[in-house]
Amino acid sequence: MTLPDFTYVGHPVTVVFGRGASRAVGEWIERIGCRRALVLSTPQQAADAEAMAASLGDRGAGVFAGAAMHTPVAVTEQALVRLRESGADCLVALGGGSTTGLGKAIALRTDLPQIVIPTTYAGSEVTDILGQTEGGTKTTLRDPRVRPEVVIYDPDLTFGLPVAMSVTSGLNAMAHAAEALYARDRNPISTLMAVEGLRAMRQALPVITGSPSDAEARTSALYGAWLCGTVLGTVGMALHHKICHTLGGTFDTPHAETHAIMLPYSIAYNAGAVPDLLAPIADIFGAPAGVGLWDFARMVDAPASLRELGLSAADLDRAAEIATANPYWNPRPVERDAIGAMLHAAWRGDRPQ
Ligand code: NAD
Repeated sequence: MTLPDFTYVGHPVTVVFGRGASRAVGEWIERIGCRRALVLSTPQQAADAEAMAASLGDRGAGVFAGAAMHTPVAVTEQALVRLRESGADCLVALGGGSTTGLGKAIALRTDLPQIVIPTTYAGSEVTDILGQTEGGTKTTLRDPRVRPEVVIYDPDLTFGLPVAMSVTSGLNAMAHAAEALYARDRNPISTLMAVEGLRAMRQALPVITGSPSDAEARTSALYGAWLCGTVLGTVGMALHHKICHTLGGTFDTPHAETHAIMLPYSIAYNAGAVPDLLAPIADIFGAPAGVGLWDFARMVDAPASLRELGLSAADLDRAAEIATANPYWNPRPVERDAIGAMLHAAWRGDRPQ
């Protein structure tokens, strides 16, 4: 076996995985040396957060159910007021990437320990990345203080994730793994996790679309989400993430849907430059990487075009301009005309070549 030289940095996190695992959240509060947790959620998951806080008894310090997409600083400030009133000495974030983001934003400002219980496949719970918005501008930082101490993956909490959101969130996770395969700082462990994460999602999502409460598929998808999120937190991302940040940041397109639509096109863009590195995708999806992902996205009924998100053809030129002005490193040169053509194909929903 010929191995390239590599550097591998493991990040400390306790991962608790299993059906019903979230029932032990009170024990985990104690095990990390804390007394009382403020439970965080979005307004949509407030009832679940209230039930969790109630189940904690004396270890519960109430709920803040104001988490919102893209972590608005104004919401974080409201949560900090609630936190001080509550006397909590740790946080429990129950929900998707938006709720996790709020927990991270509070931890950045207070250094309080966090227990995250993810209910989507976004993967934020295992990264040190935090995107925050203020005055209409989103800024992203990396800081070890925002990384949660404990992540409890309980597949039972994902049965109610609507099918459409399961699909887009699953493709969002797959995008982390796909770009990890050609990351400049990849290593054998990140590649192992990425391939296994893609395989888990490949198996799980088609089952979930037909049978949302299939325990085995929900378990595989959450396992895949952990693996894909971990590689997002371990290696650098490239063109695909840059394009999605540009579309989300400039046109406010929804996060997971944007990833779901763009993934086959970004990977097709890069496939000719790194065919060997993307061979696992071709293998798992049974076609050249971009085409295989596009066919898979159609199979699970993912949104198919940027047009569906309300973008106009004129927006695409602006998006291409922004995405190429200050590009992330990418295995294929990021060329203005080629990026424009890729965005137009994604806008129409063409099958990649
Ligand atoms: P989300 O957290 O915004 O959730 C979408 C909606 O689904 C919310 O209303 C939520 O309450 C609801 N929901 C979540 N789980 C549910 C469940 N099991 N059942 C029913 N409803 C449920 O969406 P998301 O895609 O998980 O997260 C997107 C956000 O996360 C974006 O702001 C994105 O930038 C961020 N993100 C950050 C990172 C990172 O590493 N920092 C990684 C991925 C995503």
